[in-house]
Amino acid sequence: MSSLTSRRNFLATSGKAGLGVYFTLTGASFLQSCGMIGKVKSDRYNTGFRQDPLPYTYNALTEAIDATTMEIHYSKHAAGYAANLQDAAKNEGVDMNKPLEDVLRKISKYSTKMRNNAGGHYNHEMFWKCMDPNGGGKPSGRLATALDESFNSFESFKTGFTDAGKNRFGSGWAWLFVDGDKKLRIGSTPNQDNPLMDRAEVKGFPLLGLDVWEHAYYLRYQNKRPDYIANWWKVVNWKYVQDRYESVV
Ligand code: MN
Repeated sequence: MSSLTSRRNFLATSGKAGLGVYFTLTGASFLQSCGMIGKVKSDRYNTGFRQDPLPYTYNALTEAIDATTMEIHYSKHAAGYAANLQDAAKNEGVDMNKPLEDVLRKISKYSTKMRNNAGGHYNHEMFWKCMDPNGGGKPSGRLATALDESFNSFESFKTGFTDAGKNRFGSGWAWLFVDGDKKLRIGSTPNQDNPLMDRAEVKGFPLLGLDVWEHAYYLRYQNKRPDYIANWWKVVNWKYVQDRYESVV
């Protein structure tokens, strides 16, 4: 069953009472009429303009990602996005004491340099936290239930997310995110875009992001992006993804 079909079945069978569980504050139609789709907010996960320390050592995730790739990725690629973001923020009068999310939600008002580096910094800050040496396995709690309801099963969610990463042409990201109706969605974005951006291809609050740029996997996996994704599931930090989910629903 496709994720779309299962979603339709879920909508058809759950009815308004079921959806109310997901939507406690304001009606979806109200948000749609106000153009607020994709603006689900969580103040708990505000992002700064500087890199947080990596929450583990470079060699901690070798089940999925080798230490050299981690070191270059964190200390060169991601550090570069942070530095260029700070440069763009200075040039464009952005208050770096405020959350980066404020910029992302209005990214169409800023330069291409801001878009690429604000996205790059946000995506990587989240990406590191989405992984853990003791990760892998399955989510639990409300997220597990919601994944089953939205995608039929955890396995079909994994297939859909894996496909989003495999099929993203060129550089970009695969996402699990919560849309403006507080429903779980799978999607992907090109370059360093993400679902928080007002001009993104998919819009919402990101819960789980996978970097499918070649710099994220090429040293070990070369052209075999699907092998990288298959191993990446072994280090996903479901506790963190669950906390993000519970901060917005
Ligand atoms: Mn990257």
